Amino acid sequence: MSEAEVRNVIIIGSGPAGYTAAVYAARAQLAPLVFEGSVTAGGALMTTTEVENYPGFSEGIMGPALMDEMRTQAERFGAELVADDIVAVDLTGEIKSVTDSAGTVHRAKAVILAMGSGYRKLGLEHEDRLSGHGVSWCATCDGFFFRQHEIAVIGGGDTAIEEATFLTRFADKVTIVHRRDELRASKIMAERAFANEKIEFAWNSEVAEIKGDEKLTGIVLRDTVTGETRELPVTGLFIAIGHDPRSELVKGQVHLDEDGYVLVQPDSTRTNLPGVFAAGDLVDHTYRQAITAAGTGCSAALDAERFLATLE
Ligand code: FAD
Repeated sequence: MSEAEVRNVIIIGSGPAGYTAAVYAARAQLAPLVFEGSVTAGGALMTTTEVENYPGFSEGIMGPALMDEMRTQAERFGAELVADDIVAVDLTGEIKSVTDSAGTVHRAKAVILAMGSGYRKLGLEHEDRLSGHGVSWCATCDGFFFRQHEIAVIGGGDTAIEEATFLTRFADKVTIVHRRDELRASKIMAERAFANEKIEFAWNSEVAEIKGDEKLTGIVLRDTVTGETRELPVTGLFIAIGHDPRSELVKGQVHLDEDGYVLVQPDSTRTNLPGVFAAGDLVDHTYRQAITAAGTGCSAALDAERFLATLE
């Protein structure tokens, strides 16, 4: 493509939000150009196994297969998909420009941001390999697979306590592993957890090792005060130590909240910049599901379509 060409819409990101935006924009004849990312094209679900809660798949579907379907659907209607990263953007003018990893500048009248967010990891060996095989970052997504299991939840904030409490619906026992000797979570959440008979606490503890060949078989905990270690024989490990929205690319141009999530105007996907829209986990503190990301991806394409109509 020549540098002079100005597209209607460029979409950055290829998870459920980006691909859904692409389907809608393509069907509206906007010929979207989608940058999927070079390493994780397809987004977060590429790293998981079975997805049982995405509507339309009564028997469940493997994460990569679901993303492949979305990708094919976007392509079928004429979306142009490029497995490359956008490394720089200028979104402030009427014509927006985005630069790919080869330094080529692509221009468009509207841009949809759908870069998602990354779950913080413990950074331990076997963590990625056992993802979907006992190791999880999402209780809503995976809790159902852990009926009658003994599991550990890592973290001490509101999310960790909420996830642990939710997981007691399925698991026989949930051990909350926290580095300190008191929780960061709000008092009301903490009290609910203390009162729950299925929840135990491993205070002053951090995970030193994740064990298991094909499936998780246990974790080794290290006492943060004494340094002593002990094994906890769990078959589920939920890591709830936070998320990092991938908003670095647009920082300084698009308004972000204090945690780095892109701010959108109420009941819309519009950012502070005209013609720039945002969707999915990049925006969403609360729900972080494939279906909600797809939903806001649809909204972003419709908002972009309406914005482009005002330019005609
Ligand atoms: P993502 O899926 O994170 O996709 C964003 C993508 O954008 C990135 O992966 C990358 O490819 C691309 N990108 C980022 N930066 C750039 C850039 N600069 N240039 C180009 N491309 C870029 N949800 C469910 O509903 N059900 C489940 O069962 C479920 N299981 C999960 C299991 C795991 C292990 C994980 C990690 C998540 C799971 N989720 C599940 C959550 C779900 O995956 C996310 O809510 C959803 O993928 C968010 O979609 P998104 O489009 O906003 O972002």
